[in-house]
Amino acid sequence: VTSLSASTPQDRGLIAAFEAIVGPANVLTQPSDMAAYLTEPRDLFRGGALCVVRPGSTAEVAAVVRLCSEAATPIVPQGGNTGLVGGQIPAPEDRAIVLSLQRMRALREIDLASNTMTVEAGMVLAAAQAEADRVGRAFPLSLASEGSCTIGGNLATNAGGTGVIAYGSARDLVLGVEAVLADGRIYAGLSKLKKDNTGYDLKALFIGSEGTLGIITAAVLKLFPKPRAVATAFIGLPSPADALALLDLARDKAGGEITAFELIPRLGLDFVLAHAQGARDPLAGPHQWYILLELGAHEEGAADRLLELLADAAGRGLIEDAALAASETQRRDFWRLRDELSEAQRREGGSIKHDVSVPIADIPAFLEEAGRIVATAAPGARLVPFGHLGDGNIHYNVSQPVGADRDAFLARWAEINFLVHGVVARYGGSISAEHGIGQLKRDLLGEVKDPVALDLMRALKRTLDPKGILNPGKVI
Ligand SMILES: Cc1cc2nc3c(=O)[nH]c(=O)nc-3n(C[C@H](O)[C@H](O)[C@H](O)COP(=O)(O)OP(=O)(O)OC[C@H]3O[C@@H](n4cnc5c(N)ncnc54)[C@H](O)[C@@H]3O)c2cc1C
Repeated sequence: VTSLSASTPQDRGLIAAFEAIVGPANVLTQPSDMAAYLTEPRDLFRGGALCVVRPGSTAEVAAVVRLCSEAATPIVPQGGNTGLVGGQIPAPEDRAIVLSLQRMRALREIDLASNTMTVEAGMVLAAAQAEADRVGRAFPLSLASEGSCTIGGNLATNAGGTGVIAYGSARDLVLGVEAVLADGRIYAGLSKLKKDNTGYDLKALFIGSEGTLGIITAAVLKLFPKPRAVATAFIGLPSPADALALLDLARDKAGGEITAFELIPRLGLDFVLAHAQGARDPLAGPHQWYILLELGAHEEGAADRLLELLADAAGRGLIEDAALAASETQRRDFWRLRDELSEAQRREGGSIKHDVSVPIADIPAFLEEAGRIVATAAPGARLVPFGHLGDGNIHYNVSQPVGADRDAFLARWAEINFLVHGVVARYGGSISAEHGIGQLKRDLLGEVKDPVALDLMRALKRTLDPKGILNPGKVI
């Protein structure tokens, strides 16, 4: 973490002006106060900033941005700081400010007739879920980081997670956005309209733009009926091809009720069993692969339908064994086996990550091909591909060989990425399914994205941020 001293009179003047807008307590300049904003979950990036500014309202955000625009000072927006591609971390040489939205966490309105909830950008995702639950509805975005990540960050990254198979990603869950533009003007787009064909979809510009086109300050989120019955199974099966056939069958039998279809390899389960306290294998014997399948139904009988589905799948030889959660505690235990995967992998040493998607039908071939290539390049490396099979999104993670040197293994990050992304490209896939581009994949994007698409992205950036002060060095 680099602490940049406010050495010039201009810097000192800027900090005093920020203090006048948000109050001295909400401008952090001490290294110890800023440290938490300048490091990130994977410890791949360490930042440096002039200061951290914590506005409490949209008007304050606008005033801060206007000042930055006049001074040409870069702004790095930050929500919960759970992003996995370094988008929320400022590069020291930019002498940027971190603009933390964490104080803006108000619920502005719930409109049950419109089925919407208007919240400020700094509201933590779990709090948004709880607000929806309180009025008997659901907000179905669901990530393992939901206790810390914010709605603003979720929209800025177009977050995915486990519910995408049923509800889509963050983009599909929002009707309106309020954002502060690079010159400090406010785009007041908090529309609740489901139908509005008055020109370009402007809110869409800010969703997935990772803070490079505007600062999201509030959003109108869609609410959904709360599932009345949830049924969850932990299923052992021989291969990803069988998992795909099970998905097909589940779609036939349970259609829109499938709310999660997560793939876990045996090695991943072994890691969790070794490192997560109290974790237990729900099945009697080992299996090569597992699926965590959940149905969320609006009428009773979800468990019966799941049992029927499992019996059918067993009859067709697609699955080897399965356990059905008999209580909420058991359901949570099953989910823990999925949610603890990243942490358990961290305890196994260095891990080279990929967040890729390919057409769902190609997942078995992708896994086979990528596995062969990585095993040849890095003998002994342990493959832990897991994730949202139902969305074609695999976290293709590669753990270091047992006993190998962690840093030497991680030094091969770009080389292994290149190999895996080569296979992804052959299947017409994406190098970032849900985590975004940030700084981690910025150079990669230039290599794989269609040149016309890159031109359009640059044109948008120039138009919305002519001085290049919004999250420079990220995405493009
Ligand atoms: C344990 C764990 C599990 C995760 N699981 C998933 C998962 O399943 N699916 C998934 O998609 N992601 C996942 N993530 C990644 C991360 O949680 C998401 O990207 C999340 O949406 C980031 O939200 P945040 O508030 O923490 O944003 P931050 O990390 O603070 O910022 C992320 C990006 O958004 C920008 N930004 C933040 N707030 C704003 C704003 N108000 N306006 C404009 N730009 C803004 C930042 O500049 C940065 O580029 C996981 C992370 C962890 C640590």
